[in-house]
Amino acid sequence: MELFLGANSTISALKLLPSNCSLCLQPVSSQEHCLCGLCISKLPWLRTQCRQCANPLKSNNLCPECQQKPPPYRRCVAAFEYQKDTIDKLIMDIKTNPHSPETAQLSSLLSEVITLAYQDSPMPTIMIPVPLHWRKLLMRGFNQSSNIASILSRKLKNTVILENICIRHASSSPQHLKSRKKRIQGMGNAFRMHKNIDYRSDNKNDRTCNPIFEQSVAIVDDVVTSGATAESLAWTLIKAGAKHVDIWCIARTGWHNRFD
Ligand SMILES: [Zn+2]
Ligand SMILES: [Zn+2]
Repeated sequence: MELFLGANSTISALKLLPSNCSLCLQPVSSQEHCLCGLCISKLPWLRTQCRQCANPLKSNNLCPECQQKPPPYRRCVAAFEYQKDTIDKLIMDIKTNPHSPETAQLSSLLSEVITLAYQDSPMPTIMIPVPLHWRKLLMRGFNQSSNIASILSRKLKNTVILENICIRHASSSPQHLKSRKKRIQGMGNAFRMHKNIDYRSDNKNDRTCNPIFEQSVAIVDDVVTSGATAESLAWTLIKAGAKHVDIWCIARTGWHNRFD
């Protein structure tokens, strides 16, 4: 069949074929839906958590770290607690396959969590995917956070994605064994705004305008681990004029299960 259809037609044809659940391998209805309903219900949904950083807790309070030194972002919205043997495999697919159906399904589930989280407050309308260092982008060939943001923008009304507004000029180093202070110091100046952004201006007619000036923005990431990357990027955006910065991520790593 592939010989006669050509590349694009082959992809379309494949989408029509029945697929199997990525976790239990039972058939599911379409390529878009790679997880069956039962496996979705068994995913490690993040229920009680820190009100600010979304660290998994036994109740919806502030965690000790946020009480001691609140992070620069207003809140973190995460769909799942990162756990080995469940969500980690799905996240790995998102990181390694730019066309992974897991990206579509988990991002879609995240969009539902985001909608619920902003029932009583205005939702940020600007999404900024966490930029990759150019070397990592070259090696991977795509930014998984941009792919997640792209699905979110289709699900969440009135949201736009701003790519390339922010540049990552430092590669991250393994951080899981460092103290929180050292992790944050290590990420301290990992990002900078694009040189054409004028921090003082929201003049849209000016090519050096600042589209985040006094705006609420959401940083989009696949997994928030220590929070150091999110904190560093949030500081950069706040210094560049953002009014509020929130974090939207598929999964949040708990204290007992941190990785890098
Ligand atoms: Zn399943
Ligand atoms: Zn916290």
